[in-house]
Amino acid sequence: MSNDRREANQPIVRLEFQPATPIPEYLTGEVQSKLAYVDEWIVGAEVAPDRITLQVALPAVARVVDMILDEPAALTNDRRAELEEKVQRVVLSMAKGAIKPKIQVLEDYLDRPVAYEKDPLPELIARGEVSQEANGIFALGPLVARLIGYFEQQFLKLADSFGAQPYRFPTLIPARYMERVNYFRAFPHSLTFVTHLREDLEVIDEFSQHAACDDHGLTTSPEAFARIQALLSPAVCYHLYFALADRVLQEGHATATAVGNCFRYEAINLASLERMWNFTMREVIFVGPKDFVLENRETARQRMREVFESLGLAYRVESATDPFFIGEFRKQAAFQSAFQLKYEIRARLPYKDSTLAVGSYNYHQDFFGRSLNIALPDGSPAHTGCVAFGLERMALAFLSQFGLEPDSWPKEVRRSLYGLPAA
Ligand code: ATP
Ligand code: ZN
Repeated sequence: MSNDRREANQPIVRLEFQPATPIPEYLTGEVQSKLAYVDEWIVGAEVAPDRITLQVALPAVARVVDMILDEPAALTNDRRAELEEKVQRVVLSMAKGAIKPKIQVLEDYLDRPVAYEKDPLPELIARGEVSQEANGIFALGPLVARLIGYFEQQFLKLADSFGAQPYRFPTLIPARYMERVNYFRAFPHSLTFVTHLREDLEVIDEFSQHAACDDHGLTTSPEAFARIQALLSPAVCYHLYFALADRVLQEGHATATAVGNCFRYEAINLASLERMWNFTMREVIFVGPKDFVLENRETARQRMREVFESLGLAYRVESATDPFFIGEFRKQAAFQSAFQLKYEIRARLPYKDSTLAVGSYNYHQDFFGRSLNIALPDGSPAHTGCVAFGLERMALAFLSQFGLEPDSWPKEVRRSLYGLPAA
């Protein structure tokens, strides 16, 4: 977990303690990522089965003596105890009685040889191919944009092979919709809310004359903003399910594809292109009877296996769970893994000797069909599933394995993007 919440010269205190219950090795990463949301003072955390280490930044507080002095807040014993108690609550909720999910590996090509070993990001930034606008917000230059274009061609071919209908969805999603599919309960921590100034002349005048930013953002008082009616979409497929809500699928099934901006606030976990606040996803979405969805999900996986093989990508496909929030995690993750609802395509990142999910094959059973009243012609709720690719992560994984020089890329990529003759 990184330290981006920290300000320059802010004193950092290390806190170390034992977890209230041992944390199984397979859960340490999941618990660690949740500690980002536990307290605004936590700027770093490391979780091992028998040890938790926190980095706590003491915020500056204004103290009035003869003049105003900024000095760090003290880490009192009470505050220390409060931090530890909050962390232990997370540990107990996620680790106590947790049952290790059986990881099912469907494809394993992790040991395909890779040509490159370095982290491509520093070089991409140095060349102006990637620029960071803010934490988790990146602009991508021609090299990465072209590469993403190449992957888009492959994903569109996949969509075409199913006769998927193209859709364009908005970036905003109404709060009412999210409420209807229980999103607030499952993933509250990663939501991004949208607002605007209240329709009030005083408020708008005041803003136009005094709006200013400090290190933490706009200094405008929260009262100036209207009630939240919309959020930034966290995924693409939801929009299709909402479009089909309260309807009967006359043809008995539907297949769609769309690309869209997605938003997941990942707090201090936001790191490089691996974990962005704003990223893009291409999805192919299946709605229909159970067998229709499951068979198409499987066919999509087989077709993508060929795409990845012709690229020579080092990756593996294995069962996975979504990053549910603390209280929901144990139950939901166990359910998802018991029913094999999610498989992730995890590409190798040689520079850190780990893997990164670049896409997923998802089956939601009849959850959306029931929650949104999407009916099959016989009146039963439709089943849904989606195949989702993270476009920036796809490019990052590719560049991590093949480097930044098109000359050393697989020839079909070169040929497609630059029209170079096959070597
Ligand atoms: P479901 O419909 O079951 O909720 P989904 O369609 O939302 O699934 P995910 O598996 O959650 O899909 O995400 C799909 C892909 O999006 C991931 O495999 C990853 O490549 C990309 N992705 C997810 N979060 C981020 C992020 N914070 N930054 C960059 N890419 C991301
Ligand atoms: Zn989806």
